[in-house]
Amino acid sequence: MSTEAAPTTTYTGEFAVPADHAPAADPTRQILADRVEQLYRQSVPGTLLTLFVGAIITVELWTSFYRDLTVIWWLITIAISAARYGLYRAYLERVDHDEKKWLRWMAIGALAAGVNWGIASAVIFPSHTDNQQVFLAFILAGLISGGIALFASVWWTYAIYAVGIILPFTYVLANSGSRMFVELALLMPVFYLANVVVAYRLDHVFTSGFKAREDYRGVAQEQKVMTAQIEEQLQELLNARREVEASGRKLSLFAERAPIAVLEFDANATVLEMNPAAENLFGYALGELVGRNALQMLFPADELGINESWWRDFLSGVEPATFSRLRCLRRDGLDIMCEFTLTPLVNDEDDVISVIAQGRDITQQIEAERLKKEFTSTLSHELRTPLTSIIGSLQLINSGVLGDVEKDVSELTTIAERNGQRLLDLINDLLDIEKIESGKFTLAPEVVSIDSLLRDTLVLNKGFADRYHVQLVIGKDLAPAKVEADPKRLVQVVTNLLSNAAKFSPEGGAVDVTLKLDGDRVRVGVHDRGPGIPDAFRSRIFSRFAQADSTATRQKGGTGLGLAICKRLIELMHGSIGFEDRPGGGSTFYFELPVLGDKAVSNLEQLGAAQ
Ligand code: ADP
Repeated sequence: MSTEAAPTTTYTGEFAVPADHAPAADPTRQILADRVEQLYRQSVPGTLLTLFVGAIITVELWTSFYRDLTVIWWLITIAISAARYGLYRAYLERVDHDEKKWLRWMAIGALAAGVNWGIASAVIFPSHTDNQQVFLAFILAGLISGGIALFASVWWTYAIYAVGIILPFTYVLANSGSRMFVELALLMPVFYLANVVVAYRLDHVFTSGFKAREDYRGVAQEQKVMTAQIEEQLQELLNARREVEASGRKLSLFAERAPIAVLEFDANATVLEMNPAAENLFGYALGELVGRNALQMLFPADELGINESWWRDFLSGVEPATFSRLRCLRRDGLDIMCEFTLTPLVNDEDDVISVIAQGRDITQQIEAERLKKEFTSTLSHELRTPLTSIIGSLQLINSGVLGDVEKDVSELTTIAERNGQRLLDLINDLLDIEKIESGKFTLAPEVVSIDSLLRDTLVLNKGFADRYHVQLVIGKDLAPAKVEADPKRLVQVVTNLLSNAAKFSPEGGAVDVTLKLDGDRVRVGVHDRGPGIPDAFRSRIFSRFAQADSTATRQKGGTGLGLAICKRLIELMHGSIGFEDRPGGGSTFYFELPVLGDKAVSNLEQLGAAQ
């Protein structure tokens, strides 16, 4: 009998009870199937027993008067046994799982077996001697009791089997004429009932046994699934561990080879780890720093209090922070300026477990910045002052105040004045951008009537536009609007936009200046009919030293700083600046500023008067 089965099927050809098969979708059905299977299992020994007992009876009664009858009965017994065996084979080879059908067939088989024994009692019993009758009665009683073991897994099949024997046998006993047999006949129903009750009880025992087995299968299956899941999770964990180890190796490689210093501290600023670049930066070997306090070892002693204070603030912030100028101390006693980014690593409770610091020496960079500033101030004082007086002198000569000058000389001094002015513009632009970017630039804001400022600036730039044979055009009835701005710097912005427009306009062209109120903002537009702004240049136009075509601008003059300064100035005045294509060709540069309401104007004016 095979115990092998495909894991998902309950039966194969044999009685399949695989240890690892999936529990039946319907346990009640499965239990019935188990009970039926038990019946069929028992049918083979039952049939063999029947044949054996039948053979003994036949031998015993061979010499009797009714030998033929006995032989016929024996043949019927063989036929029924063969049919029951055939049923057993059919059950083994069944393809359906209609358990109720197989149970019905088994019940028919049981009834046939029972009735066969009943016939034996009814036909053979009365015609024999007392001894033979006792022999038969003994055997029949044994068969009735023995049937319990064979049919008890479905109790009513036993009831059918036993009734087939008992009914005719009781009848025969009752009519035997012997008092003892009549008493036996009276006892027969009690005997029958007692046996059926035992079969019924056994049926329950079988059923609960099968149920326990079914439950066990379920538990075993669940355990199998769980084991598979645990194995899968274990595998995932192993994979994750491998990945973590790999990325750990990668990270330490990064840190090892990185040109910047990487250090790890605990929350007390004790050095836990550092890379070779950090060793180079501070001049300490790893072993000399690990376990030591970084604030004491890597910073000047006179700044310990300050450093402890920012370290505490940083820890309480629990966020990455960049310290752009930290005065650090090397092992050889040299002061260096460093820039460090500190990143805290926290646990679930937000406690800092360690701090990763990445930094570099910026001493040389600071020195370069200092030199640049020195150069700028030299430019400012040593270059601008004499240049201003040169231009002033040339202006005096060119204006004719000092008397007439020869034409050749005048041409040269005019060129000298123009180029001197360009040089001064460049120096002024450089100084402006430097001041703005270092945050040292201050505005002198006041209430400005932007319409009149525009008109005045146009007049100021007329001479420049004339040089390019360009006309500056402004509407006569501009909407009056007041803004809070530094008038000198606003003129500088408008002048820059006008001079660009004039420079890039075709000869004889016009530049229109517009002023529009748009809600709480005023928009000033400078519209030219020039070549427009090339696509590739649009994103850079407000950057420093940005020029679309440097050869063209070299002819027209300019530094590429004008728009960068304009943008920063307008933004300092809380406005915005931009450009767009002018419909019909050319470009429109515009800026917008917040308009002041009447109340704001009078408040600001009072404030100005009080100062
Ligand atoms: P620059 O002093 O060179 O004029 P700007 O910052 O004012 O510097 O302008 C930068 C560049 O933007 C110019 O060189 C030019 O290429 C382009 N540009 C500015 N205004 C105009 C305009 N109205 N039309 C065409 N190109 C312009």
